[in-house]
Amino acid sequence: MSYQPSNSRAAYVVIDSAAIEHNLKRVTELVPSAKVMAVIKADGYGHGMEVAAKALANADEFAVSSLDDVARLRSQGFDKPITMLSATFDVDDLNIMSAQKVRPVIYDLAQLAIIAELSETAELDLWLKIDTGMGRLGLCIDDAHLMAARLLSQAGVNSVSAMTHLANADDPDHPNNQRQIKSFLKFAEPYNFSQLSIMNSAGTVAFRQQANSMVRPGLILYGVSPQLGGSAQSLDLRPAMTLKSKLISVKRLPVGSPIGYGSRYVLDADSRIGVISCGYADGYPRHAPSGTPVLVNGLYVPLIGRVSMDLITVDLGEVRAEVGDDVILWGADNPVEVIAEMSGTIAYELICGITPRVERLVI
Ligand SMILES: *Cc1c(COP(=O)(O)O)cnc(C)c1O
Repeated sequence: MSYQPSNSRAAYVVIDSAAIEHNLKRVTELVPSAKVMAVIKADGYGHGMEVAAKALANADEFAVSSLDDVARLRSQGFDKPITMLSATFDVDDLNIMSAQKVRPVIYDLAQLAIIAELSETAELDLWLKIDTGMGRLGLCIDDAHLMAARLLSQAGVNSVSAMTHLANADDPDHPNNQRQIKSFLKFAEPYNFSQLSIMNSAGTVAFRQQANSMVRPGLILYGVSPQLGGSAQSLDLRPAMTLKSKLISVKRLPVGSPIGYGSRYVLDADSRIGVISCGYADGYPRHAPSGTPVLVNGLYVPLIGRVSMDLITVDLGEVRAEVGDDVILWGADNPVEVIAEMSGTIAYELICGITPRVERLVI
């Protein structure tokens, strides 16, 4: 499919809603007895929060990380419970959350004072987040016991659930995974928490037998593998985002020609080079090295020279290609996992990093 963005640039992303829907189905096949909290923070990982929410209509709840996101979802009629993953809030925010079926995550003792002011008529369903070894957000075990006791007897609190987050789920054999899971289950054992949740995407894939009552996938819903060196295909996931553009110039250059800023790449033979309208200001990684694959008319050609703000250059060799031909920077046949790895980053950063000037075509 070819599409012309209205802003006279050639780069655009295609979002495949059916792929997101399919990926949710895959999650429910992996963990049939767990409820699914579909994570759509960061504008649905760059796919469009509303687009994702619509495609994820079969999820049990959503997770976002701001009240603005909640307002957007509620104003458009999405009425599932929403978990607020890492927001800051005061007591007014909590009362709003209670009224809007939003479930805040309690992660610091400093929040006790705010919760103590909660309206008695509130009916908050909240999460207690435990730090079992991630060393980021969450209460350490002793503080978590204190908080659990307070929350379970606090007026205005309807239910308390507990979650933790694995630091190494993308590396299933890492010994800290089972340590964290054990420590969380031991913590939770004496309480009557309404739900327990440990697994993000990588955990859902790697430790499905240990899934709790709720899983919290983000990445896999967008069809990207969460395992180190893994592929979406091997998990029967369908990538939902394709970053496309066009060749805007094709020309022959002789051996020895320097390509791009810094003249860091020099043609080692006469060749045809193609210039593509897409650069780091669109969200293509600036550190993508020469050799990063670009799909031109269904054939892989290497990126050459530095990525610049609006443009990249490829070595077309004898590939049949002319100005106006479509190129795929990443998508189903050119995995974003590979582009990320070669660029020294992770697929999460690439899909979330598409910039506002890039039009989104939802199919
Ligand atoms: C973002 C997030 C997730 C989802 O992580 P993925 O790796 O994208 O599946 C799950 N849990 C928490 C607490 C998160 O912040």
